[in-house]
Amino acid sequence: MKRIRTNKKVFNIIGAGLAGCEAANYLSQKGYRVNLYEMKPDSFSCAHKSNYFAELICSNSLKSKSLTTASGLLKQEMNMLGSLIMKYAYKNEIPAGTALAVDRENFSKDITEYINQDSNINVISQRINDINTFIENKNEYTIVACGPLISDELAKSIIDITSENSLFFYDAIAPTVLYEDIDFSNAYMASRYNSEDKSYINCPLTKEEYDIFYKFVVNAKTVQLRYFEEQKIFEGCMPFEVLAKREYDALRFGPMKPIGLTNPHTNSKDYAIIQLRQDNITASIYNLVGFQTNLTFAMQDELIKLIPALKNCKIIRYGVMHRNTYLNSPFVLNKYYQMQSVRNLFFAGQITGVEGYLPSASSGLVSAINCLKEACDMKKVDFTANTMLGAFQNHISTIPNKNYLPMNANYGILSPLGQYIRNKSKKYAEYAKRSFQTITQIISLYDI
Ligand SMILES: Cc1cc2nc3c(=O)[nH]c(=O)nc-3n(C[C@H](O)[C@H](O)[C@H](O)COP(=O)(O)OP(=O)(O)OC[C@H]3O[C@@H](n4cnc5c(N)ncnc54)[C@H](O)[C@@H]3O)c2cc1C
Repeated sequence: MKRIRTNKKVFNIIGAGLAGCEAANYLSQKGYRVNLYEMKPDSFSCAHKSNYFAELICSNSLKSKSLTTASGLLKQEMNMLGSLIMKYAYKNEIPAGTALAVDRENFSKDITEYINQDSNINVISQRINDINTFIENKNEYTIVACGPLISDELAKSIIDITSENSLFFYDAIAPTVLYEDIDFSNAYMASRYNSEDKSYINCPLTKEEYDIFYKFVVNAKTVQLRYFEEQKIFEGCMPFEVLAKREYDALRFGPMKPIGLTNPHTNSKDYAIIQLRQDNITASIYNLVGFQTNLTFAMQDELIKLIPALKNCKIIRYGVMHRNTYLNSPFVLNKYYQMQSVRNLFFAGQITGVEGYLPSASSGLVSAINCLKEACDMKKVDFTANTMLGAFQNHISTIPNKNYLPMNANYGILSPLGQYIRNKSKKYAEYAKRSFQTITQIISLYDI
C-alpha cells in the first residue's frame, strides 16, 4: 500500500514517457510528491501521436519474455523492482509467440489513468524549454526524461549547462556482434599498415564471396524513413548499401578495402575485408566498421551469414539510422544517471544513451532510485554488471569517448560468469540466476 505523503522534498520529472512514468511511480510509491511535466496534448514531437502517456511510438513489441534472452532478463529485473510499465504490459498483452506484445492504446491508456489518479503525482501540462529554473532550488530534484525527440529549446538549455559537445543528434549505428561468436579460423586481428597493432578483427572475403555479398546488398530491402528523418540523415555518414549501389567496387574502395593488411592464414592479400572494431571496454562486443545501414533487421540477419567469419554470429544491436538525440553521457553523467556537475539534476530514458522501450523504462527506475538516495543523503545504488540494470549504468558512464552510442539489452554488456559454460541456454540461465540473487541482495541492503 502506498505511503501517505509526509515529505517536503519535491521531485520534478520532465516527460511522461516510458522512463518518466516509471520514475514518477517509483517516487510516488515511496511517499514523495512528484510534479510530472508533459507537453502533450498541447505539443507533440514529430513521432508522438497519442494523448496518452508512455506512448509506444513504433512497434508494439517489448521483445522476448524468455528468461534466457537479454530482454527477458531485463523484464525479470524490472518486475523485481515493481515496474509500472511491466505491470501494464502484462495486463495488456496480446498473442505474439515468445515476445511480449501489447495493445498499445490500452497499455498507454491504463498507465495514463493510473498516473492521473495518483494523489502524489501532480501532472502539469506544460512544455519545458529551460531546465535552469528547476535546478536553482537546491531542495528540488529533477529528472529529465524527455526522450530522443527533444525540442531545440530544451536541447539548447541542456547544452547551456553542460557543453557544446554534450548532445548527439543522430544515430548512425552499424550492426554489432559478440566476440565469442566470431570464427577466428576465418578472421585475424591486425590494424592496417601495422601488424603489431591488433585492434581490429579482420573478416576476409574471396572474390566469389564478395560477389554474393555485393549482389545481396544492392537488392536488399531497406527501412522506409519517416519524413523527419529524411533530410539530415545522409550528411554525416552514408549507409553502406547506398555506397554499394554506386558501383561494384565502391565497397572495396571504401569500408571493405583490403589494403594495408596481410592475411596470416594465407600469407596473402585479401580481395575484400570487413573490419570489426571493439565496442565496449570489456571487448565482448564488436561493431562492423563503416556499416551504418538502413537495411531491415531481417536483411541484416541474412547479410551477416554471408561473411564467413561471422556465420555463427547473431546481431546483438542492429544497424540503424534515425533521429535520436542523446547525451554524451560518459562526459556528463555518472553511473547513477546524475549530472556530474549538478547534484540535483538526473536524466532517464533514451536521452541517456540506452536504446529501446524497456531499457528506457528501466533507466527511469534506476534514475529515480538514485535521485531519491541523493535527496535523502544516502548511498546511491550500483546494480553492478551482474545485472542488466547495472550494465546500463556502466554503459552510460563508461570511459568518455567521442563515439558513444546507444545500447540495448544484450549479454555482451554483462560481466562474464566466473565459470565457462559452453551450452548457451545453460549459460543464459546462469546469468538470470546471478541477476536474481544480486537484485534480491541489493533490494534488502538498500531498502529499495
Ligand atoms: C522514430 C523512432 C522509432 C522507434 N521505434 C522503436 C521501436 O520500435 N522499439 C523500441 O523498443 N524503441 C523504439 N524507439 C526508441 C523508443 O522511442 C524509446 O526507446 C522510448 O520511447 C524512450 O522512452 P523515453 O521515456 O526515454 O522517451 P519517450 O517515450 O519519447 O517519452 C518522452 C516524453 O517526454 C515528453 N516531452 C518531450 N519533451 C518535452 C518537454 N520539453 N516538456 C515536456 N514534455 C516533454 C514527450 O511528449 C513524451 O511523452 C524508436 C525511437 C524513434 C525516434
